[in-house]
Parts: sequence; structure tokens; C-alpha cells
Amino acid sequence: MDSFDVVIVGAGLGGLLCGNILSREGFSVCIVEKNHKAGGSLQTFGRKGKIFNTGLNYTESLEEGQVLNQYFRYFGIMDKLKLRKLDTTGFDVIDFPDRQYCLGMGQENFVNILAEQFPSERGALKTYTEKLGKICSSISLYTLQDKQHSIIGDYDLGTGAHDYISSVLSDDRLRNIVAGNNLLYAGHQQKTPLFIHALINHSFIESAWRVVDGSHQLVNLLTSSIVANGGTILRSHKVQKLVAESGRIKYAQVHDKEPLFGKYFIANVHPDQLIDMADRALLKKAFGSRIRSLEDTMGMFTLYLVFKKKTFPYINHNFYHYNQDNVWIASDYKPEKWPQNYLLMTTATSGSLDFAESGSILTYMDYNELKKWELTFTGNRGGEYLEFKEKKAEQLLNAVEKQFPGIRRCIEACYTSTPLTWRDYTGTRSGSAYGILKDHNRPLESVIPARTKIPNLFLTGQNTNVHGILGVSISSVVTCSELIDIRYLVGKIRNA
Ligand SMILES: Cc1cc2nc3c(=O)[nH]c(=O)nc-3n(C[C@H](O)[C@H](O)[C@H](O)COP(=O)(O)OP(=O)(O)OC[C@H]3O[C@@H](n4cnc5c(N)ncnc54)[C@H](O)[C@@H]3O)c2cc1C
Repeated sequence: MDSFDVVIVGAGLGGLLCGNILSREGFSVCIVEKNHKAGGSLQTFGRKGKIFNTGLNYTESLEEGQVLNQYFRYFGIMDKLKLRKLDTTGFDVIDFPDRQYCLGMGQENFVNILAEQFPSERGALKTYTEKLGKICSSISLYTLQDKQHSIIGDYDLGTGAHDYISSVLSDDRLRNIVAGNNLLYAGHQQKTPLFIHALINHSFIESAWRVVDGSHQLVNLLTSSIVANGGTILRSHKVQKLVAESGRIKYAQVHDKEPLFGKYFIANVHPDQLIDMADRALLKKAFGSRIRSLEDTMGMFTLYLVFKKKTFPYINHNFYHYNQDNVWIASDYKPEKWPQNYLLMTTATSGSLDFAESGSILTYMDYNELKKWELTFTGNRGGEYLEFKEKKAEQLLNAVEKQFPGIRRCIEACYTSTPLTWRDYTGTRSGSAYGILKDHNRPLESVIPARTKIPNLFLTGQNTNVHGILGVSISSVVTCSELIDIRYLVGKIRNA
């Protein structure tokens, strides 16, 4: 029977990055993934020969000298990724019923572009961007300095993003513009902490990129590196139990398969799943009650469009539309007004620079609207569900037609996914997009540490610390620092 130094449950970005770090540092690793494909939210899929990204539409800070560039160098993938930088004069366009605004790349550009429309707010915009930068600088794993390392910086965890923005900017429209891409973190007006807004926005203002020809590139590069380092990746292996003996996890149990023994175990799954998988008594009752009392971020309904050849332009920015002034939709969700917002993106492909081959349109969807199908599984939910999805696709396209007249004529085929799809593919509770909702009113409860009460069991991925490509990269280092000296690890990343 095989025994590994580390058994990792889940081959999402978090599991793959931990596998990459630990296998290059000499640990024997085995990653166990329930799906037949690795990648979790980074999976892509193809229809009619066109590629669709699912959970990596754009990423940040990949310019030489910037934070994710440094992490990707260490992971050994930076020079192998095909990337396209988004428009520097507006990587995100925030569109309201009366007019639209651009978020510029680079702090100075960002301030200058918005200050042209809001001249009296120039000073406040500068203060705002500097504050975001300061928050990131207080996170030692962001600056990769040689000091005590933690994801939690010196900033005030109890400050809300919306509250801070309202305190520094006077113009209500401008406040909504700077938070206009909050679908990136499913922003909640009363709950989202400032540090989440800061980490994401500062990093995207630094630079914003699309992965050309699909985010599975990232998955392929990481899986290849793990295998090259002697690691094992078992696909179509759903872990049912992490079986304990004498207070420690002894092996992972997969249905109909040999037990997978390990010295250490890392769970790249939603902590709620871990409660069912591991011994509840060992995890401690308080952990279970805490996790079960925490809210998750809202899930998404997505339209995936295949465009007819050379009909719809490739748009080198992300288009965030709102049919109202307030952009904090996740906490202002009104089913009768659906869709209150959407994000439209065209896929970057090397085949075409001027025209888009495919594109995605994302908007929130409350899980309660899907409750009646919650006991069903993808592909077998019945006709009523298919009708529901078709109706929603029509509603969303009707809304999009107002900003992109004629888009329907460009569509060759259209596919949809709901939070139930996400739940089934990634195992995330209620098909939440980004896992546990961080709440500045309960800062210490909603930030989940990598360490658990079981001494050889750790957590990683979007639910620990921060979600997204950068957030999960940092989280994977936090998790691996339980097994490797953190100063050594940070030194390696800094010098990569
Ligand atoms: C719609 C959407 C759009 C997004 N867009 C962006 C973006 O543009 N930029 C960005 O930076 N981030 C984006 N994100 C966020 C980003 O994709 C995620 O934060 C990140 O990929 C999460 O990685 P993870 O490893 O934590 O989790 P996951 O990707 O959920 O991985 C968990 C893995 O565990 C596996 N698993 C679960 N249960 C078991 C089990 N019992 N046994 C074995 N395996 C199991 C799952 O199958 C999955 O592969 C987006 C997310 C969504 C949902």
C-alpha cells in the first residue's frame, strides 16, 4: 500500500499549488481529485471547437517586478503562459444606464482618468489608491519581505470596503465606480472587508491580463510540474473520509479504492465538506458550528456564447453593466429586477485578435431560486430546470442587447451554468462563487486559518485567507509554511 508524505484532497488551484511547492521541496505528494479533470474552478470546456474559461477570466499583477509575476516565476510557469494585457486606458469599464467610466491601469493612470470626470476628487482618489497600496504593503506575503510572515497585515480587519470608500470619496457615483468590479469578490455592502477590496483592486490596477487560449494552460503546467517532481495525481477519485487514528489522520478513503496513507493531509475543499469528511470530534465542535454559521459568497449564472465567425468584436476589457446606481448587488439582490448587473467578457484566443470566437456573461443568481432542484445532479435535472435556464438566458440576453445591439445575430450557440453546476463540479457549498464570505463585522471568525485542530490536517484554497488566483497563490504558501520554513520559502519566491 502506498504511503505519501502529503495527501492533498482536491486538484483546484490551491491543491495544485501546494502540490507544486511541496513536490519541488522533496515531499512525496499525492493529489486526489473527484473529477476526471484537474483544475476545479480553472477548468475550461469546449463547444463547437471554441474554448470557454469558467473561473479564470482575468488575472492581475503579472508585469515584471509585480507580485503574481514573482509567485508564478517560483511556480515555474511565468515564462510558459500565453498572456494578453488588457487595455491600459480601461481594463474594466463600469457602465451605468446614463454613461460609462474606465478604470485605468497604473495608479497614476487610474487617478488621472477618473479625475478628468471628477476634478474635485483628484486628491481623494490619490488618497484612496495610496490606501489600497498601503494595505497590500502591510501583507508580508504580498511584498515578500524577510520578516514575520502572515497574510493578516497590520491594517484594521474590522473596516468595511463600502464604509471606507464612502469616507474618502464624496461623490456617490465615483464611490460606485471604484467598487464597480465588485463582482470579482461578490461584494457585500455591509460585510466585505476593506482588505479584500484592496488586495484585489490594487493588484488589478497594477496590471490586468487574460490567459490566451484558456486557463487550462495553468492547470496543465502545474500538473506537469508535479508529475515531473515525482508527484501523483489521481483523477476521478472522490475522497469520502479522512480516517483518524490516535488523534491524527491516517488515510484518505476513496470509494472502492485502496486507502491512501499519508503523514500529512491538505484539504483543498470547502471547510463545510471537511466537517463531513474528517472526524467531527477531533476537528472540535466549535469549528463545525462556526463554519456552519458562516455565509458564503453568492453564486453566478453564466451564459457561454459561441460567436459566428467574424461577427462580434474581441473586446480587450471587461464590461461591467449596472441597471441601477448602487453597484453592491450581492447585498441588494432583487429577483424581480434580475439581472441587475452583468459582466461581459470576450475570450482571448491566438486565432483572432479583432473578432471574438467566444464570450461569457456572468451575473449573480440566488441559490434559493434553485432550491427545488438541489437534490438533482448536473445533466439530470429534468425539463423544468432546462426551461428555467432558457428563460433566464433570454432575460439576460435581452438586458445585454441594450448595450450591445445586434449581439443575438452574432450568436451561433449558447450554453448556461448556474450555481448548481458549480456546486456539482467543485463541491462548493450552494455553488458559491468564492467560498466563505469574509465579514468585517466578524473578522476573526470568517478568516479561516490553514491549521486545524487535527495536527496533521491543513486547509488551503479560496476559503482560507483570500480567493482568486493571487489570493489562492498566497494561501498555498501559507498552508505549505506549516511544513516548510516560511523564511526559506519566501526567500525562494523572492529570488525566483
Ligand atoms: C464564475 C467565477 C469566475 C471567476 N473569475 C475569476 C477571475 O477572473 N480571476 C480570478 O483571479 N479568480 C476568479 N475566480 C475565483 C477563482 O477561480 C477561485 O478563487 C480559485 O480557482 C479557487 O481555487 P480553489 O483551489 O480554492 O478551489 P476549487 O477550484 O473549488 O477546487 C477544489 C477542488 O476540490 C475538488 N474536490 C471537492 N471535493 C472533493 C472530494 N471529496 N474529493 C476529491 N476532490 C474534491 C473539486 O472537484 C475541485 O477540483 C472566479 C470564480 C468563479 C466561480
